[in-house]
Amino acid sequence: MASAIGRRQAFKLATQARLFSSSAARNAAQVKSLGVIGAGQMGLGIALVAAQKAGIPVTLIDQSQAALDKGLGFAEKLLAKDVSKSRLTQDQADKARSLLSPSTAIEDLSGVDFVIEAVPEISSLKFDIFAKLAKVCPKHTILATNTSSISITKIAASTTKDPTDLSASSRVVSTHFMNPVPVQKGVEIISGLQTSKETVDTAVEFCKAMGKIPSVSADSPGFIANRILMPYINEAIICLETGVGTRDDIDAMMKNGTNVPMGPLQLADFIGLDTCLAIMKVLYQETGDSKYRPSILLGKMVDAGWFGKKSGKGFYDY
Ligand code: NAD
Repeated sequence: MASAIGRRQAFKLATQARLFSSSAARNAAQVKSLGVIGAGQMGLGIALVAAQKAGIPVTLIDQSQAALDKGLGFAEKLLAKDVSKSRLTQDQADKARSLLSPSTAIEDLSGVDFVIEAVPEISSLKFDIFAKLAKVCPKHTILATNTSSISITKIAASTTKDPTDLSASSRVVSTHFMNPVPVQKGVEIISGLQTSKETVDTAVEFCKAMGKIPSVSADSPGFIANRILMPYINEAIICLETGVGTRDDIDAMMKNGTNVPMGPLQLADFIGLDTCLAIMKVLYQETGDSKYRPSILLGKMVDAGWFGKKSGKGFYDY
């Protein structure tokens, strides 16, 4: 009986979300400004691609001024490389750079049409940010997350204390970009139970305007990409810890045997071992299925602070 009531309530909320229109979503052509929260490897890539491909101003927020300086320095290097390889003219590179404005204050997103959050994969951190965004942003702003694994329904619920009030939660969606953002074409669009159809449509169109190819996924642990990718990486780490193969043999076998640009251990270093562990934990906790148990070696490496490329040490040294 309880689950029947739960299903009816879920159906009611989903129907409300679909019908909800108010001043909510705008189409991609009306997205004239973007806010990105988190100037790490993903946020920086998203900001840069939006400036280059969609040609709109981007406010890049990070809690750390050092992260903003490092991120913008990296963006300048990427743009200079594109100019040197004749992929961009100097004018185009200058224009893209001029569209990026750094800030440490989330309140600076009070005028943007679309926000993409890309802070670390920690639920409580994301919930706090979405509660703030619901207050700071205009009532039409799409509130997107780049989470790799956290439920969009839970993130949407964090925008309000009243679950029947869909005014902010219907504008929450996931735009899950792939790493490195300037290179990878795929992006996953995931809606929560509360997300309106206009929000999903706007997110799909905006990602296309950024030159990406969207795939729509259900709000299920790991979505499509990480449901498939992370157990593959985790299994490679288990192969290493149980002596099935050396680091180099595991990576060489998968690289040369499946025609991918890098092996799973190197890929884990590029993604970030902290991020891989966080995703495996979500898959394991949400499904209760032992096939998603994170490798013990992965946990130990994160305990040691060996996060991969971003910290200078992982399965490889950088
Ligand atoms: P990262 O560690 O490189 O960057 C995170 C940034 O967020 C840092 O610059 C940090 O200073 C900043 N930050 C932390 N707390 C903040 C706060 N309260 N307000 C503002 N900024 C804050 O992480 P990343 O690899 O860019 O991952 C970001 C998100 O993207 C995560 O949810 C991750 O799961 C997801 N993701 C990562 C990958 C990947 O390959 N790394 C791929 C797809 C999605």
